[in-house]
Amino acid sequence: MIRLTLAEVADLTGGTLTGGDPATAVTGAVTLDSRTVAPGDLFVAVAGERVDGHDFLGAAAAAGAVAALGSRTDPALPCVVVDDPVVALGRLAAGVHARLAGSGLITIGLTGSSGKTSTKDLLGQVLGAAGETVSPPGSYNNDIGLPLTVLSAGETTRYLVLEMGARGVGHIARLCGVARPDIGVVLNVGSAHLGEFGSADVIAQAKGELVEALPEGGTAVLNADDPRVLGMAPRTRARVVTTGRGPTADVRAVDVTLDGSARGRFTLVAGGEEHPVALQVVGEHQVANALSAAAAALAAGLAPADVAAALSAAGPRSRWRMEVERRADGVTVVNDAYNANPESMRAALAALAGLTATRRIAVLGAMAELGPGATAEHERLGRDAAAAGIDLVVAVGPDAVGIADGAAAAGRRPGEESVLVPDRAAARQLMSEVLRPGDVVLVKASRSYGLELLAADLLEEG
Ligand code: ATP
Ligand code: MG
Repeated sequence: MIRLTLAEVADLTGGTLTGGDPATAVTGAVTLDSRTVAPGDLFVAVAGERVDGHDFLGAAAAAGAVAALGSRTDPALPCVVVDDPVVALGRLAAGVHARLAGSGLITIGLTGSSGKTSTKDLLGQVLGAAGETVSPPGSYNNDIGLPLTVLSAGETTRYLVLEMGARGVGHIARLCGVARPDIGVVLNVGSAHLGEFGSADVIAQAKGELVEALPEGGTAVLNADDPRVLGMAPRTRARVVTTGRGPTADVRAVDVTLDGSARGRFTLVAGGEEHPVALQVVGEHQVANALSAAAAALAAGLAPADVAAALSAAGPRSRWRMEVERRADGVTVVNDAYNANPESMRAALAALAGLTATRRIAVLGAMAELGPGATAEHERLGRDAAAAGIDLVVAVGPDAVGIADGAAAAGRRPGEESVLVPDRAAARQLMSEVLRPGDVVLVKASRSYGLELLAADLLEEG
């Protein structure tokens, strides 16, 4: 965080300072959670669905906040009063970003339907090996998380990695308005939030706003293995760098193999050089993510050999994404319960199929927000799970019935089964009956089904 006075906060946000000295400086961080306020912080009061930050102005003051940014005042502490604190947070971040960009900060924005956080975590580690890097925790990709990430950068930060999410057209353009990236990475266009967007073309329209925002001297990193992403090339003024498995991509992975733990190994071909990469993260989909991270790091000025070495050293950073843990009894639990859509389900099933195991079991909840095609998508997924050679497919909850139906309809081989259980407790009960040493069990569903709790229960049982 750069040092800002309350006068500057008011100026950048268009707010009015009440009850404080304009020369007072914010010396700490900008935070929304009164429980994490430390002395010197600026507390942003946001009215959420369940709680209103304005109810915690007193608590923030007691914890040492120098001021609040909010829509109401409180005698407890100085407040920069604005109409909409979230908009004001974006303005504050935009002002800070403009200053930092002027002094040499390189900003990388990432978007796509799947793999933003995974790629951000790889890229954060690669850049972190080369210089001071700010890369947000978890999935800070919206109108609140992105400005908070920007505001956590300081004068000594060299690289800023921003995850950009979209639930509609115009969202990414707005995030780019807060912090225009120098390098923009588009991973893929899938069916995440298809119900809200309406069609994959609209999703491509929305994700492509990232490359439209790039400056002339910038770089657009486009996944050439996804036609909708490659199709964004004419929408940017920036230089285009393509990634992929094919011979024409600028940054390529060749000789891709998976080890017994489903971790990708490949040769990174870029800039006329070839370097071996052995990923620590699980699943073949991470090869594409690693290529995107590599191309972004190269565009930021890193050398191919350093990128390959850092990719090989990069571990998983964010929870509930292909977290592989072995129980004492020899059962392995793969917790990929952070989220799910058709592409990420298939990526996780492919990884499960690639793991060395006696039996492979997939415990899958439903995929939310798919719109009218949801039933067909669930059935297709069940059929594909069966085709991938998963020994037991367990669909959890009534919304997931299509998965069990699809798997059953696929005409399973002897020894392969599919079953629908009503809820998490029933899934846990079933697993306690069937799991044997040597089994691997994948747990995955959309966030709202909370299957990470099942994964935790399964780990506890071993
Ligand atoms: P969100 O929109 O929820 O923030 P995200 O785009 O940040 O998601 P991640 O959290 O990185 O995505 O990954 C979510 C899941 O998607 C992972 O658990 C994994 O199964 C899958 N996944 C990651 N990368 C890819 C990819 N390149 N292609 C398909 N699936 C992927
Ligand atoms: Mg994310």
